[in-house]
Amino acid sequence: MKLPFFGGVHPDGHKGLSAAAPLAAMPPPARVAIPLRQHIGAPCKPLVKAGDAVRMGQKIGDGEGLCVPVHASVSGVVEAIEDRPHPGGGLCLSVVIKNDFRDTPDPAMKPRPNPEKLSPEELIGIIHQAGLVGMGGAAFPTDVKSQTCVGHVDTVILNACECEPYITADDMLMRTRPGDVLRGLAVFMRILAPGETVAAVEDNKPQAVEALKQQLPKTPGIRLKVLPTRYPQGAEKQLIQAVTGRQAPSGGLPRDVGCAVFNAASAAAVCRAVYEGVSVYERIVTVTGEGVKQPRNLIVRVGTSFQEVIDAAGGLTDDVWKVLSGGPMMGIAQSSLSVPVTKATNAVLCLSNAQNGESGRPVCIRCGKCVEACPMRLEPLYLYRFSNAGNLDALKRLSLMDCIECGCCAYTCPGKVPLVTGIRKGKRALKEGAK
Ligand code: SF4
Ligand code: SF4
Repeated sequence: MKLPFFGGVHPDGHKGLSAAAPLAAMPPPARVAIPLRQHIGAPCKPLVKAGDAVRMGQKIGDGEGLCVPVHASVSGVVEAIEDRPHPGGGLCLSVVIKNDFRDTPDPAMKPRPNPEKLSPEELIGIIHQAGLVGMGGAAFPTDVKSQTCVGHVDTVILNACECEPYITADDMLMRTRPGDVLRGLAVFMRILAPGETVAAVEDNKPQAVEALKQQLPKTPGIRLKVLPTRYPQGAEKQLIQAVTGRQAPSGGLPRDVGCAVFNAASAAAVCRAVYEGVSVYERIVTVTGEGVKQPRNLIVRVGTSFQEVIDAAGGLTDDVWKVLSGGPMMGIAQSSLSVPVTKATNAVLCLSNAQNGESGRPVCIRCGKCVEACPMRLEPLYLYRFSNAGNLDALKRLSLMDCIECGCCAYTCPGKVPLVTGIRKGKRALKEGAK
């Protein structure tokens, strides 16, 4: 059988842990710590100071260049603006708000009178002001992606694959709010005027597929494509190849092959921003894994700590091994549960000792499995070796920066070589070298 993209793996899904429990809104916490860096690009500068009263949805940070605003997720009083731990690692300047539990909305958040008459430029402006980023984890500013694709794409793809094991946030979103997802996708169609628009879902989400099918007649011009489940199908370049057969070049972008890809959660957030005037201050988070007592999907306010999210899912089990932000393949292990949920946090994954595959000293037996699994046609074992040796010339020659950090190589490696950790080290070195 011809595969839709090169490499890839079939890890156990574990999605049943959280997919069955109904979606619930988590009660907002007494305090939120909202990072001023929740996107790729320059961090925001605070627009408020300690002692200021703020309303839910109010803009509290903004900046120049590649930067999107951040908004208060509760109403209350700013207690501090200080460095706090960030789920991406290190510290980040954050706005700490004491919740008054009134949820007083910002007056700017109200339904727009004529949303269907807005021009593409006005829609992009709304997307920017609402603080939209890639909510599948990438966190790239959505307004910039939209703007740079204008006039360059003939195909818009909704990325509803959610191919990472354990995560069911987008699945739950599509099952409960399919209309928002498709209306948001239709907004991107108005901006980009593509010849074709495809909503791509993997076949392990039959309820989501059915929900989208029911909504399709209300949003004409969208084709639903159900893809066989395979990781990392939700990576942009792999999804483009699976849907259109086109291959983005090394170092290139989706628009280089005429495509723009938007995540399902981002599309739903765009719908709320355009039609209801709502900024991004909450999102669906999957709290799951064998290390948490009651896995589920929760609507969580941005700035809520991982500890409180885990508590809302019954707390950690006694045999918890580690907690990640994101899934087991691409997620980031956390050293503190005080880190907050951000716009890009799709999952808080709590793994138990039973999932601990680490053993002894890693050893490469030169089996080549990592090369077969790499969807970017790279040579992970050499990337790892040259990263550790600091050989930047070799890393450039081997196209290290094409690595999408999908984790297929490490997943498939029988020698338990920490390939992605090494590769990330090499990427940091290359970026430093470039500076
Ligand atoms: S899969 Fe692991 S053991 Fe096999 S060649 Fe790659 S790094 Fe070496
Ligand atoms: S080298 Fe990068 S792109 Fe290739 S499998 Fe490993 S993590 Fe994925």
